[in-house]
Amino acid sequence: MAEMLSVEEARDRILDHIHPLPAEEVPLPGALGRVLAENAVAGEALPPFTNSAMDGYAVRSADTTGASPEHPVRLRLVGEVPAGQVYAGTLHPGEALRILTGAALPDGGDSVLEQERTRIGEGVVELLAAVSPGTNIRPSGDDVRPGTVLAPKGAEVGPAELALLAALGIQPIRVTRRPTVAIVSTGDELAPLGETPGPGQIRESNGPYLAAVVERAGATPLRLGVARDRVEEIRRLLDEASGADLILTSGGVSVGDYDLVKQILTERGTIDFWRVRMRPGKPLAFGMIGETPVLGLPGNPVSAAVTFELFGRPALRKMCGCSQLERPTVEVVLEGEDLERADRRHFVRASLRSRGGTLTATPTGDQGSHRISSLTGAAALLIIMEGEGIVHAGEHVPAILLNDAGMPWGG
Ligand code: AMP
Ligand code: MG
Repeated sequence: MAEMLSVEEARDRILDHIHPLPAEEVPLPGALGRVLAENAVAGEALPPFTNSAMDGYAVRSADTTGASPEHPVRLRLVGEVPAGQVYAGTLHPGEALRILTGAALPDGGDSVLEQERTRIGEGVVELLAAVSPGTNIRPSGDDVRPGTVLAPKGAEVGPAELALLAALGIQPIRVTRRPTVAIVSTGDELAPLGETPGPGQIRESNGPYLAAVVERAGATPLRLGVARDRVEEIRRLLDEASGADLILTSGGVSVGDYDLVKQILTERGTIDFWRVRMRPGKPLAFGMIGETPVLGLPGNPVSAAVTFELFGRPALRKMCGCSQLERPTVEVVLEGEDLERADRRHFVRASLRSRGGTLTATPTGDQGSHRISSLTGAAALLIIMEGEGIVHAGEHVPAILLNDAGMPWGG
């Protein structure tokens, strides 16, 4: 009989065998979604030079004292500096320089008066308001100082990080290599995508599903197709998979047929078969073929999806070097139906709505582990902890945010 583990025990045992992959350098434009292998540190200041936040006139603030519409101050206009250019001279007392947004503040100037508060004359500008030092300017380094950690090792590069690294000229960047994940579906009853199922066969769907979630997790899927329940076929596909960073199999780990997969996995490496105290997805296998970890997911599509989410995704995030392995868990209010606690932890697919700032969750219908349609629209997995009694509609429950089905804005 396979060993019975809690969700945490299974997860810890798997993660113990997973290590971040080595680093590589990539050019910045292709780095979206990659994970930094070292701190990205600013080598310069941002903004790189003090510049104007407005279209207006650079002045010495001391010259503007007392200026008002009734008593304008007249300054001599000495030129213009658009963005991308630098005023060659120094601003002397009694002088003003026409300046456009983003242009470098001239030496001697300490502030900018916006053009709406000026009147222009022949070679002069009339200031209708006084300014204090620093008005309407963006000092060098007020966004980022040299030496600042822009994004720490283990952070995922998103659009904001791309902008920041680009603004500081950090390129190429060192990121953790993307893992390659071999995906093998097992089962005599499976007709691969594009083939017509024979009598008693079903169309294979775990392969496409797992390839998609692997990609979303930041790894590269390698779909090896379907192995029928024959020793030679499973052996052949596992051999083909041996260059991958992780092998994901689905099917063939339930009581009926796991001896077959077990036989090959034990002959090729080491493998443990577990029953995990959770629903869906009780049977799970984990082991190593040489240096390559193998995660054997159950065949039922929903079980495969939930066990990938709980065990496969954190493993891939760890390989990617991510500091954050888990998705966020939040409290939501259960809606629609009561849920019964059981001796196995239940992960319930649910859609989310935002009602007046509170997240509410509605289970996506019948939770049978064969019902692929229960995965669509699921923005969260509700965690119904082991125990007794009923979780009633209206109660708070923890929920893992999947954010694959979109976030529940509005409502
Ligand atoms: P198994 O874990 O191999 O006993 O499979 C459990 C159930 O999941 C069976 O009803 C299988 O037909 C189904 N199943 C297994 N693998 C797949 C797959 N790749 N795609 C769709 N359904 C599958
Ligand atoms: Mg099977």
